[in-house]
Amino acid sequence: MLEITDIPVAGYENVKRAIDSETGLHAIIAVHSTVLGPALGGLRLWEYASEEEALTDVLRLSKGMTYKASCAGLALGGGKSVMIGNPGMKSDALFASMGEFVESFGGSYITAEDVNTKPSDMAVIAKQTDSVVGLEGKSGNPSPKTAWGCFLGLKACLEQKFGSADMKDKVFAFEGVGSVGSIYAKLIAEQGGKIILADIKDEAARRVAEETGGTIVSPDAIRSVDCDVYAPCALGGSVNQETIPSIKARVICGAANNQLLDENDGVSLRKHGILYGPDYVVNAGGLINVYNELVPGGYQEARALDEMEMIYENLKEIFEISTQRNICTSKAADLFGDRRIHAARDLVSENA
Ligand code: NAD
Repeated sequence: MLEITDIPVAGYENVKRAIDSETGLHAIIAVHSTVLGPALGGLRLWEYASEEEALTDVLRLSKGMTYKASCAGLALGGGKSVMIGNPGMKSDALFASMGEFVESFGGSYITAEDVNTKPSDMAVIAKQTDSVVGLEGKSGNPSPKTAWGCFLGLKACLEQKFGSADMKDKVFAFEGVGSVGSIYAKLIAEQGGKIILADIKDEAARRVAEETGGTIVSPDAIRSVDCDVYAPCALGGSVNQETIPSIKARVICGAANNQLLDENDGVSLRKHGILYGPDYVVNAGGLINVYNELVPGGYQEARALDEMEMIYENLKEIFEISTQRNICTSKAADLFGDRRIHAARDLVSENA
């Protein structure tokens, strides 16, 4: 029996927990904002140490989705869900229960795959609700598109920092070479970039090193290696007051969500002369891709790829805001994202 309870959180529209003792489900859905449209964000399965830790994660991630969708110009709000548990606990009953939980949001939250969840899990959820995207046979695996978006974002970052997007002989340090990082690294290697990489999974590191002609270093060493670009493509929080002083890269441009541990880290990066490509702008390719399932005419890859070009353009504009206002790029990205959200809010209150 599914028990759903409210978790009131200031600044968030709707946050709920679900517990189902029969299936083992312990999940939280956070809807940060639906001002621009239904809140779309993936479902993460993670072995959090506590519900508090899961809540902190889902709140940060869902807010990031609001800004990601807004910056990408999509008619979507921001939401996210987390299931607390071991990836080994997966079962159809568990995802059916999660599907019921998603359905209880009545369309205001739309789920998708994320860390440790797959299109096959979404297929089970789809039996309980229509509020799910990323199913097999539609937009498919978002990771290659996210990688492509990172690559477009990287060009804008390189132009801003070095005056040219030329990657030849530049050195790129990859933290995490999973679904996104592996493809992103290959795109750079094809342009003559030199890859240094680390992954806690030895096999993934070896495979991508072979494919890119890259060099492997330990996960502890990757953030401080001598390089031009640091690409965080594992989990969030890797850029913080402890790590920033040892980062030698002049640019940070990666796929991971919530790369900065807190807001001040953006200011510190600027002080250290490191150009930060704000994560939710750089990694929006997968969201732009999956969003295309929801627009009239359904999913069309060519249209989705075309729309991804805006990642490059948006970064250019964000760097401009950062220069003009003398603020860090993460703050500039927030201002850029706020424009659409505030305009939509003003429109709603004018019509109320
Ligand atoms: P993934 O799980 O396929 O890959 C992550 C890789 O990082 C794994 O190989 C893992 O072993 C490695 N890793 C974990 N901790 C590490 C550490 N401390 N040091 C080095 N390696 C470590 O995930 P993914 O789909 O490639 O996503 C990567 C990041 O990008 C995540 O933060 C995800 O939220 C974000 N993201 C992904 C997408 C997408 O389309 N998949 C979209 C937007 C954002």
